[in-house]
Amino acid sequence: MEIRKILDSLKEKGLFRRIKDIDKIQGKYIHSMGKKFLDFSSSNYLGYRDSEWMKVVATEAVEEYGMGSGASRLVVGTADIYRELEEYIAKEKQKEKALLFNSGYDANIGIISTLYGKGDVIYCDKLNHASIYDGIKMSDANMVRYKHSDIEDLERKIIKTRKDHKQALIVVDSVFSMDGDKARLAELVELKERYSIDLMVDEAHGGGILGERGMGLCEEEGVLDKVDLNMGTFSKAYGSQGAYVATSTDRIEYLINNCRSLIYTTSLPPAVVACSMEAMKRAHEDKDARGYLAALSDYLRMQLREMGVSTLGSETNIIPIVVGDNEKTVEISDKLLKAGIMIPAIRKPTVNTPRLRLSLSANHTKEDVDNLIESLKPLI
Ligand code: PMP
Repeated sequence: MEIRKILDSLKEKGLFRRIKDIDKIQGKYIHSMGKKFLDFSSSNYLGYRDSEWMKVVATEAVEEYGMGSGASRLVVGTADIYRELEEYIAKEKQKEKALLFNSGYDANIGIISTLYGKGDVIYCDKLNHASIYDGIKMSDANMVRYKHSDIEDLERKIIKTRKDHKQALIVVDSVFSMDGDKARLAELVELKERYSIDLMVDEAHGGGILGERGMGLCEEEGVLDKVDLNMGTFSKAYGSQGAYVATSTDRIEYLINNCRSLIYTTSLPPAVVACSMEAMKRAHEDKDARGYLAALSDYLRMQLREMGVSTLGSETNIIPIVVGDNEKTVEISDKLLKAGIMIPAIRKPTVNTPRLRLSLSANHTKEDVDNLIESLKPLI
């Protein structure tokens, strides 16, 4: 059968994917097969995921609301904590309104495919997340990809195509999930204003990590009020689940009326919403953790560069470690695992340059980083 042949050929090329069996994740460790591995693969950047306060908030919310939310909000209505979180996000993001989604994936496919369509154009950075690509494909808008963070390439393409379309959107990750570099937001804002284009920013990896109050790259760059659609997730630094978009009242009402990944799905469990709310509030005050994480990331990048290892354009706690081709990258990832360190190998076709994709969290210590460096040195 065709499917079997495809799977066999993936195996032959070393590209067959498996989901690893683990027992559980606890703090910075993954427990599996009776062993404990230092985890550099999770996105629990601030260490909130299994903190004591998170467990208390979750437990109290389950006591009050139970577990599941029961139905889509369009069917059953919206409980108080969902409204409170949306109002809170809207205020923090300097927008009229905000709307919750069940995941970042649901948010991106829903927002983009509902608000843009045939006759519109969407400018997409080549390294944007897969959910953005899928949203654009579902929208039927004309997708124009530009070279990663290449503002000149983008402007050339805008000049060529903007006039032939009704609405236009530039969409970008604030922190690119595989390379850990930041979008050139100030320049994107200039372009959007010059050519009358909407700007959507995905703060999945910037939320909680960047900006004085952890409101992401838009805050760090002082452009919160300039961005038209400010999207982010609760699944990374906030240690919870779900996503949001903050934007104009008109757009939110349009999404409530038309967005299929919002309308036709049971909404987030209330306890998850309660945890997201508490996490976002705490992250505002967690400046020390942000500073610590930035310093630890600088330290690791410096160590790697001294070893002659490229970290591409990384400037955050997401650090790609480039060690060779697909096979070599997998081999090193496997050897690190044997040494008790978990860093996933990310290969083609997910990325063009195979790498170990590492993310640091506030749970990691300088000793953890030194341990990684010492384990890596003989393998390079
Ligand atoms: N956007 C970006 C930039 C991401 O990295 C991710 C998750 N990897 C998502 C969206 C999807 O978010 P979620 O995992 O909450 O579906």
